[in-house]
Amino acid sequence: MSVLRWHALSGYSLELTQFTVGRATIVGGTRALLDAIGSVTPFERRLDTAVAAVTQRGNRVEVETRGGDTFAAGAAVVAVPLNAVGAIEFTPALPEDKRRAIALGQASRGIKIFIRARGEPLLQNSIRPGHPFGHLDTDWVDGDGVQQLIGFGIDAERCHAGDLPALQSQLEAILPGYVVVDATAHDWLADELSRGTWAIHRPRLVRAPPRRDATGRGAGCAGRLGHRQRVGRLHRRRDRVGAAPGARASALTG
Ligand SMILES: Cc1cc2nc3c(=O)[nH]c(=O)nc-3n(C[C@H](O)[C@H](O)[C@H](O)COP(=O)(O)OP(=O)(O)OC[C@H]3O[C@@H](n4cnc5c(N)ncnc54)[C@H](O)[C@@H]3O)c2cc1C
Repeated sequence: MSVLRWHALSGYSLELTQFTVGRATIVGGTRALLDAIGSVTPFERRLDTAVAAVTQRGNRVEVETRGGDTFAAGAAVVAVPLNAVGAIEFTPALPEDKRRAIALGQASRGIKIFIRARGEPLLQNSIRPGHPFGHLDTDWVDGDGVQQLIGFGIDAERCHAGDLPALQSQLEAILPGYVVVDATAHDWLADELSRGTWAIHRPRLVRAPPRRDATGRGAGCAGRLGHRQRVGRLHRRRDRVGAAPGARASALTG
């Protein structure tokens, strides 16, 4: 479903889809984009500050952190992952369709695992359907014959970066002849600030008509544009921002 949306956003061209998703990257990485945004306006950044509540008071919005600090502003942009929004208390409550979407959540419980393995110093690209990390790709090869592999799987519970013997037999099944040296992965499912991996929305979620909420401000979404307008705008932006499938998908959910 998500891939179909990337396809639509790329003007229904497979070539352009592959180019935007696989080739176009941000020069300097995502941090360069964040730094560029952060450098144009002098604002305060607070990291490691979880928000507990967002409250509308008259024409102001108050944001309360879990630490008890409160910030007031004319508007708040809530851009947390769909599976983490439910932990924030909104007053007034979000409209029913948004609450339903939040309760449904996004579907992905996948894993991105980084494996260092020793073997033939070749660039590898392996696919094995049903395997715990059934798409495995070489990121780079070091001079000592150890290479960095990136694996993608559909269920984080089916492989564990800390269990090297189990990982070794899984690696044998997709890329025989390589020996696991080390591995790492973040547990996005257990992370309470994400509770899921890349944003793969459930069937019908993107079909829900975008609606203005009681506050008139929406809740961290693209808002009230029609589907075609949104696709058009995002399409035009593509050249400037490069590929960020999750971000584009979120914008489409309205
Ligand atoms: C494992 C994995 C691999 C991926 N690989 C790629 C890739 O190779 N290429 C690519 O383009 N995209 C990739 N993506 C997708 C990409 O990371 C997302 O599309 C992108 O990060 C979405 O950006 P965002 O700002 O919408 O959300 P996020 O980056 O998820 O940012 C949301 C932020 O909200 C914070 N937050 C959550 N709850 C609260 C709270 N209560 N209070 C305060 N803050 C809160 C979170 O900590 C997080 O920092 C990957 C995603 C995952 C999970």
